[in-house]
Amino acid sequence: MKICRTKKSLSSLSAAWHRAGETVAIVPTMGFLHEGHLSLVRLARKKARRVVVSVFVNPTQFGPNEDFAQYPRDEKRDFALLRAEGVDAVFAPTPEEMYGADATVSLVESKLSKVMCGAFRPIHFAGVLTVVLKLFNVSRADVAVFGRKDAQQLAVIRRMVRDLDVPVKIVGAPLVREKDGLALSSRNTYLSAADRVRALALHEALDAAQADFRAGKTDAGRATAKIEKALAKACEKVDYAVAVDADTLEPVRTLGRGTLLAVAAWVGKTRLIDNHLL
Ligand code: AMP
Repeated sequence: MKICRTKKSLSSLSAAWHRAGETVAIVPTMGFLHEGHLSLVRLARKKARRVVVSVFVNPTQFGPNEDFAQYPRDEKRDFALLRAEGVDAVFAPTPEEMYGADATVSLVESKLSKVMCGAFRPIHFAGVLTVVLKLFNVSRADVAVFGRKDAQQLAVIRRMVRDLDVPVKIVGAPLVREKDGLALSSRNTYLSAADRVRALALHEALDAAQADFRAGKTDAGRATAKIEKALAKACEKVDYAVAVDADTLEPVRTLGRGTLLAVAAWVGKTRLIDNHLL
């Protein structure tokens, strides 16, 4: 497994692969890897001959009062896990390598990134889109794999690729959970044992909504009100509970196939997100 610390080294590697007629997939991550990330890597291996995983805690997608400094990091362990998956290259630049000190351009999406998490994290998706487009350009990837855990992120990235004609194929990967249903997240390490139990409320509320839907209850307003009520009992604060179209993120009145039920809530000092795609 090649470890690329510079943009130039990754670009050269990818150019050599392409010259040899090989396709390249990229899996962007912020590291502190878990089975969710590794499932993306396995899917990427099915989609292209070569797989690059980026491990980069991107400073520009964190707000001033968010957890950039505390975000968990363990590069050695991450690299060992990726090596065991047969990854061809890992891209792990410093923020200084990634961004010029005098960079003045960033990418803003003006609709999908304003709702849901975007309403609470105003600069988040501009940071995500800018770094993701840079990763596409540096890696020259043919395919990029993103998890449905971050359903809004996936929708915003698909929109960028569509609207800017970015020559990359976006693949969405299923959300991976712990046995008890908690969505895997690097941020789960912030949870105390008691908070981890309370965090189960997110997926339990979504599960209940899905069961109601299967039983024929399709009123979106009632479904989200019920989810919100269940979350309010277990969590310090509910940022949102919504039923939206998974592609446009526009609210729906009636639940149906392709409806995304999505939540964000605070458990202790940790902000968690989860979703079910009906
Ligand atoms: P992160 O390191 O949190 O930025 O996530 C990197 C990628 O892994 C993103 O595409 C996430 O959607 C994906 N991911 C994170 N957690 C999960 C999960 N539990 N299941 C599936 N994909 C995930």
